[in-house]
Amino acid sequence: MQEQNMHPASLMMSYGYRPDWSEGAIKCPIFQTSTFVFRTAEEGKAYFELAYGLRTPEAGEKPGLIYSRLNHPDLEILENRLCLWDRSEACTVFNSGMAAITTALTAYAKPGDVILHSEPLYGGTIHYLSHVLSRFGVEIMGFRPEETADDIAARLHASGKADRLAIVYIETPANPTNDLFDLAVCRQLADRFSSDSRRVLVMVDNTYMGPIWQHPLAHGADLVLYSATKYIGGHSDLIAGACLGSEELMKPIRELRTFLGNLADAWTGWLLLRSLETMALRMEKQASNAGIVAAWLASRQGVQHVHYLGLLNPSDGRAYEIYQRQCTGPGAMLSLEVPGGEAAAFAFLNRLKLVKMAVSLGSTESLAQHPATMTHAGMHPSDKMRLGINPSLVRLSIGVEHPDDIIADLDQALG
Ligand code: PLP
Repeated sequence: MQEQNMHPASLMMSYGYRPDWSEGAIKCPIFQTSTFVFRTAEEGKAYFELAYGLRTPEAGEKPGLIYSRLNHPDLEILENRLCLWDRSEACTVFNSGMAAITTALTAYAKPGDVILHSEPLYGGTIHYLSHVLSRFGVEIMGFRPEETADDIAARLHASGKADRLAIVYIETPANPTNDLFDLAVCRQLADRFSSDSRRVLVMVDNTYMGPIWQHPLAHGADLVLYSATKYIGGHSDLIAGACLGSEELMKPIRELRTFLGNLADAWTGWLLLRSLETMALRMEKQASNAGIVAAWLASRQGVQHVHYLGLLNPSDGRAYEIYQRQCTGPGAMLSLEVPGGEAAAFAFLNRLKLVKMAVSLGSTESLAQHPATMTHAGMHPSDKMRLGINPSLVRLSIGVEHPDDIIADLDQALG
């Protein structure tokens, strides 16, 4: 049986590692080393030539290990394994999701460029776009799910910036509202504004769906980004990020990582290898629990709205159609509105016992937080209201506990 015919879940324990490299150890060891010994000076020279892009590799020539700020074995094996889930040619792992996002954006945005982005975005991402990249002359323009490609194109033309569009950046489903954006439409939009000398890139933050429930590369994205802190790590015990796409597009991103020095270390790489072995199992259980919890919440008195992809139905029109076409599962993220604004939402949060009040998501334990005053606190109040991040909204990340216990905790906290 060939490895290429197997499912990714079957390969997470072995792919890209041979026990005879490490005294027969079944698990890849933690390579706690800063530097790697060259067998000859010629070998060292060749490794640097490839790492610095001074020449193209000869047939069959692979980049060698030089120094742990450039790469190391735990990360190489992890990157190879992550590629399998998204059927990606290349992967670069970082020491946080924000490091993956900011490095990818910085590698491709230059002064004068325009970035079109879905709204809302994760608070850290919108902060980087509007407060950091703006200092380097990069302009941004947001769009909402209800806008068509023609609406967005018309706004771009009217702004006089159409010829400067460089990146379409999307987070779908959006954090924390679960708004869905159509990746095929975003690809069409990017193609419409591309020219022979300039391809407008589509970048997708797929953190909310993990590498299981949505595969943006298959829907026309150029680059996929993850906070690996979430489902990929899955145990609330590490911070990491990843970027996936073609080898060609990955080159400037990997180069920038080398000089920013923001790759994940050996221990984090090793923990992520461990986490990948159970990722599919965890995520399936989390989604099954989330479905049960969302259905219960939707019928519970004292809950205004439940935003969960699994509750979408044909009457939801475009959102339902996008969900059917783009996602393979509803995920484990939901948000609910507790009538009574911030005071009622806080009272609910303060009464939770099993469900922990903390930011982050996609972990084995269920988490709850208040986006308007926590993850999205930095947004302008009018933007929060416009995008549905209102004082009543509470975000839940459903874990692997028994669903009856999660429901019992939510029930007593709702009062
Ligand atoms: N993208 C999304 C959707 C997130 O929710 C987060 C963090 O919560 C990030 C990116 C940033 O990831 P990290 O905290 O690993 O830097």
